[in-house]
Amino acid sequence: MKKLYIETLGCLMNIKDSDHIIAELSDEYELTSNLKEADLIILNTCSVREKPVAKLFSEIGVFNKKRKKDSKIGICGCTASHMGKEIIKRAPTVDFVIGSRNVSRIKEAINIPKTVITDINYDETTYLFKEFRTNKFKDYVNITLGCDKKCSFCIVPKTRGKEISIPTDIIINQIQKLVDNGVKEVTLLGQNVNGYGKRFSVVHKKINFTTLLQEISKIEKLERIRFTSPHPLHADDEFIEEFASNPKICKHMHFPVQSGSTRILKKMRRGYTREWYLDRINKLRKIPNIVISTDIIVGFPGETDEDFENTLDLVKKAEFEQMFSFLYSPRPHTEAANYTDTVDKEVAKKRLYKLQALQKKIVEKKSEEKVGKTMKVLIEKYENGIVSGKSDNFYTVKAKGDDSLLGKIIDIKIKEPHLSSLTGEI
Ligand code: SF4
Repeated sequence: MKKLYIETLGCLMNIKDSDHIIAELSDEYELTSNLKEADLIILNTCSVREKPVAKLFSEIGVFNKKRKKDSKIGICGCTASHMGKEIIKRAPTVDFVIGSRNVSRIKEAINIPKTVITDINYDETTYLFKEFRTNKFKDYVNITLGCDKKCSFCIVPKTRGKEISIPTDIIINQIQKLVDNGVKEVTLLGQNVNGYGKRFSVVHKKINFTTLLQEISKIEKLERIRFTSPHPLHADDEFIEEFASNPKICKHMHFPVQSGSTRILKKMRRGYTREWYLDRINKLRKIPNIVISTDIIVGFPGETDEDFENTLDLVKKAEFEQMFSFLYSPRPHTEAANYTDTVDKEVAKKRLYKLQALQKKIVEKKSEEKVGKTMKVLIEKYENGIVSGKSDNFYTVKAKGDDSLLGKIIDIKIKEPHLSSLTGEI
């Protein structure tokens, strides 16, 4: 077997794409973590923020220094999609470039020198990938590819193409196969999961995300369902009620708000208002033990002090258990990159620190509230007498235990809160 070294940047979709690449090459290549012995080096890139793009070319430099003679370098993922040939022009040692919508064509790319495949409307929705998994008990399953939304800051529609749903029978068969192989939990992946069913590339009966969840829940021995990310605009009552009442659906909702100001949300083209978002939060908060996380962009063009105060106010009201907050950075091929009303970098940074300080207090309070509660935890790791895993509502929980608990869902009573995890007793 030849050796494959793969480095993945970015989101869960990219991690899943890397798994697909590894699976597709598994009859010829085995994984190595040693760059120096690799016959094939793949960098799966992200382009949502500025840093990963800069990292791409510095990483190629590192590969060139360390790699063995005759090894190949391939660049995949979102930056590959939008930069295409430009990558080989700037870094001629790169052997092929393959976009995030073209993972199934990896073998074709490897075998033809200097291939560039970046068709963002390529249809991979009926392609059956082989299986590769790093975790025995859980896995990720794509349910949609691409995105039809036009959020003015986001490059994804340009790198992953039009939104298209994977046929239901393919999803169900894939999950059934995973469950037969011992998987207890699946996370459904898409840029906009609750838009599922809008468009299929094959003749398919009309089915929305709520119905898909109901169908997946019928799979016996599948114990947990997660999904990421739902769009707040499509979080209608039917969807929230299914989320609340279906016992297999984990009670964690990643619910990206991006800003607390309706004026900025309009400039971002998110399609909802602050009032709609808070109304959805109020409905979600009625679900016992729910945990809600979010994404927020600070310093979006035109953001005033008042807009930012609205974001702080929304965060106080929503009390997110987890937040991913970022300074706005313009991305190529996006509408917002042409906005001229930019926010001063120092002002934006101060706002970000203020938001993060507020969030830290909320997280501390929320974690304290968990003490004394009992959580259902899927045990995934065992090390030195300590077992750990994710609770139904997505906390990392640790307790004393042994390796016989691996793969089991057990009750743990929370004793001590920490910033990024909880410890308890079985
Ligand atoms: S919903 Fe908006 S932010 Fe999310 S991937 Fe689509 S365009 Fe980007």
